[in-house]
Amino acid sequence: MMNTPRIQRIKEKCKGLFGPSYQKHRSDSGLLYPGFVITVTLLSIFLAQASPNARWNGWDFHAERNATVNKAIQYTAQYKTPLTETGELLTHYRFESFGATDPDEVDVNAPMIALTFDDGPNPSNTARILDVLSANYSHATFFVVGTNAEQYQDTLKAISAAGCEIGNHTYNHANLTTISADEVAEQLEKVNRAVKKATGESTTVIRPPYGAYDEDLLAQLDAPVVLWDLDTEDWSSRDAQKVVEAVLTKVKDGDIVLMHDIYESTAEAVEIMVPKLKEQGFQIMSVSEMAEYKGKSLELGKAYGGFESSAQ
Ligand code: ZN
Repeated sequence: MMNTPRIQRIKEKCKGLFGPSYQKHRSDSGLLYPGFVITVTLLSIFLAQASPNARWNGWDFHAERNATVNKAIQYTAQYKTPLTETGELLTHYRFESFGATDPDEVDVNAPMIALTFDDGPNPSNTARILDVLSANYSHATFFVVGTNAEQYQDTLKAISAAGCEIGNHTYNHANLTTISADEVAEQLEKVNRAVKKATGESTTVIRPPYGAYDEDLLAQLDAPVVLWDLDTEDWSSRDAQKVVEAVLTKVKDGDIVLMHDIYESTAEAVEIMVPKLKEQGFQIMSVSEMAEYKGKSLELGKAYGGFESSAQ
């Protein structure tokens, strides 16, 4: 199957190899050396796949099954020569159960979930979560509060740069059903101002604090309301293992998972659960992405709690 971005990536990696390394070896071995590197790399990937501990070392080569990525097991082969530093030669994706040819590609027929994080951003915990998401070709939605958004502009930028979605969780965690329409507007507008200052864009979805909303509130909001259908209760347990279990034992296609990126225990839980969810075949994305891939449009004046294939 043709896949231009993937072929392009392999070409770029080869270009890296044939740059400094090729120049240094050219005089004595001509094309023989790059040919040897490629052959042994492919062989080492093959041996790493067959190996029970998912790694293989030999001569100056090293191949390792080093990350579980979207629908695939990723193998990165490295080479080391006496003249050059260790370099990554190529990354090979062994696709196990789906027909996709690229880790970024979404299979609309395979299970998907949205991870959501409220009450941040938080400079250290949000950064840890973004790292594990990026390493696993995944996205999430971060429902930020304005007080933190104003204070941690760099973290907002990092969320946006990672391809994640930023939602509105009010300026100071207000219960929107108990304040006036003007106050509601101000609570939301102040968050948008902070997010726009950092990223250039406004928030796309709203999660009212405490999940509190009524028909009057829905009618006045200028973005769809997103709730959740899998509550990890991470704020209560503050225990990474319990949060991981809450997700792994209940998760199903179309779920919107509620967590809070202000807790270290939640960051730790995400580091454990994301690779496991990918291994189980779940594609992890933002709420708006999941709605789109599920063929549902998020409408104004509505509240969404999940995207089960049978519901809505
Ligand atoms: Zn909250």
